[in-house]
Amino acid sequence: MKWSYRLGRFFGIDFYLHVTFILFLAWVWWTPPQQGPLTLGFILCAFTCVALHEYGHALMARKFGVKTHDITLLPIGGVARLERIPERPFHEFLVAIAGPAVNAVIAVVLYGICLLLRINPSYESDLLIKADFMVTLMWWNVGMIAFNMLPAFPMDGGRVLRALLAMKFEYAKATRAAAIVGKVMAALFAYFALFHSGSLLLIIIAVFVWMGASDEVAAADQRSALSGVRVRDAMLVDFRRVSPEDTAASVAQLILQGWQADFPVVYNDEVVGIVTRQEVVGALSQNHATPVSHFMRQQPVLCDPSEPLRNVLGRMKERNQPLIPVIKDGQLTGLVTQENTLKFILFRRALSSPRN
Ligand SMILES: [Zn+2]
Repeated sequence: MKWSYRLGRFFGIDFYLHVTFILFLAWVWWTPPQQGPLTLGFILCAFTCVALHEYGHALMARKFGVKTHDITLLPIGGVARLERIPERPFHEFLVAIAGPAVNAVIAVVLYGICLLLRINPSYESDLLIKADFMVTLMWWNVGMIAFNMLPAFPMDGGRVLRALLAMKFEYAKATRAAAIVGKVMAALFAYFALFHSGSLLLIIIAVFVWMGASDEVAAADQRSALSGVRVRDAMLVDFRRVSPEDTAASVAQLILQGWQADFPVVYNDEVVGIVTRQEVVGALSQNHATPVSHFMRQQPVLCDPSEPLRNVLGRMKERNQPLIPVIKDGQLTGLVTQENTLKFILFRRALSSPRN
């Protein structure tokens, strides 16, 4: 994530603080409350619980072979960027529930400590002002469980619901059903915020939940459209390649002639780089005779025709590489591009429509 400061690497996963989170801490530091446990120390403990929640997801995902790119802490919560959603619904269920489970463990431990120290752990409406540090932290964790378990995307509860539905129904269908529940909830939030509480926060959450539902349906549709598809089924086979000595102007000419926007760079039958339209434009603005070798991206990610297309698209996104050359027996045989993949999905969907 941009604008993030790397704090360290814990359990083999990089941990970042977003700049807004650091500003938030500074704000708490500069405007300390008159009384009560809501201090910088408390905020740090509370967000440590948020971080542990995210590590709960990440470490459970690792059990099922799913990597986590990184974890970032924002003032609105944490984000664990998982490489993908586990294939089996039961695994997705466990990954989703692992975060709130961490908060449940913390809350139980704090409850035990309160009992040992003879502190009254019951909920008070002025919890943030009067209650004990430990009690407030315990209720913070309970609050996190309640909020995260709302059955709506992108909250954990939405994933739990989808995973439970996916054990019985097809994945895309289960997602659509879970998304409807989420949208109904978003509408209720918005209604309540507009006509009763007037809470801006609730309106923001409603918008967030509504968009989360749409995103999830789109992702699930793509996932089912690509299930079982190999790279060779959807790769571009009639394409142009360029050599390192070609100039920016000659590549621009190829783009104008209607060939691809992005090209593999081949030298001695070996793919040595790629050039994208963006880089061609950049090079042209310097000097139209700039050779490709000066502005190509070196060591691009390559793939094999028999690989599942979905995995390759994941790598494409992760590396921000708009085309992936397909290599068979050491020879360049095709290209995976975003555009071609979209066409493929479109045609496949049309072919599988009920009238066919
Ligand atoms: Zn979570």
